[in-house]
Amino acid sequence: MSIFLFEGITVKRERVTDNVYSFQSAVYADVTAGAVVGPDWAIIIDSLALPEESLAIRDFIEQDLQLPVRYIINTHYHADHTWGNCFFPGSTIVSHTLCRQLLDTVGRASLEVTRKGNIAFRNTKIVLPQLTFSEGNMSIRVGKKTLTLIHFPGHSADNIGVLVEEGKVLFAADILMPIPYIVDGDINEMIASLKRISKMGLENVVQGHGDIVLRGEVEVSCMENLAYLSAIRRVVRQASRRKYPMDFLSQADVESCGKSRVLIGGLAEELHQRNLYALYEQLYEEAPAAFEDDFED
Ligand SMILES: [Zn+2]
Repeated sequence: MSIFLFEGITVKRERVTDNVYSFQSAVYADVTAGAVVGPDWAIIIDSLALPEESLAIRDFIEQDLQLPVRYIINTHYHADHTWGNCFFPGSTIVSHTLCRQLLDTVGRASLEVTRKGNIAFRNTKIVLPQLTFSEGNMSIRVGKKTLTLIHFPGHSADNIGVLVEEGKVLFAADILMPIPYIVDGDINEMIASLKRISKMGLENVVQGHGDIVLRGEVEVSCMENLAYLSAIRRVVRQASRRKYPMDFLSQADVESCGKSRVLIGGLAEELHQRNLYALYEQLYEEAPAAFEDDFED
């Protein structure tokens, strides 16, 4: 793994296999991106959110490797995977059709809000995918590598993974993270996607956040995430039988559901609490009541 500095911000770079790289943010939630390079041009997988980090990826490919970035694959519309699109003006952006729709609506609105409070995003613009697919898979060939784009919903409706067929490397995006995150997604779709991934016979999985999962650990990671999803469903059902479900949920910490709190740069407990809250709302179509709600005037 090599670390390179760009205006003081670090992006960790790792060579996954021949002509396949992954990048990991040292600033925000261990979010990752990837690159697959051929002899004449390169494809990147996600563009990160902070301009300095997107530019660090661009510098590596354009300056160090001396290749243009011809395509960007957006795995899903969330800011930390797409906001860097605007720093690759000559590239064609590829995604699921839903990603384009969500980026154009929800993504655009969230950038507007973020820009008001954060000068770091003053030059960031939403750039929508030009090439989309909504059924089956899509394939792109770069050099001797075939990339297959596969829909894996659950974290978000539009999430796709990118399988590098030669070498069996999957860029899973946020369908595989050290702790599953379903706030913008659907728990049943995530369960189905994780079961599919566990059976793909993969060599490496680049998670959307966190470290690379190696062969032999892939199935275990999927199983652990499935166990976590069962655990949170159990907690939410138990909570629904209480007078104050919110108080019950806030006491069910991430460790009681089988995951360590140090995951994703220490964000695990926060993501876990949001999962519980969102799942409760999804299952019972109302916010979980809290003790203090009864005493508000
Ligand atoms: Zn996401």
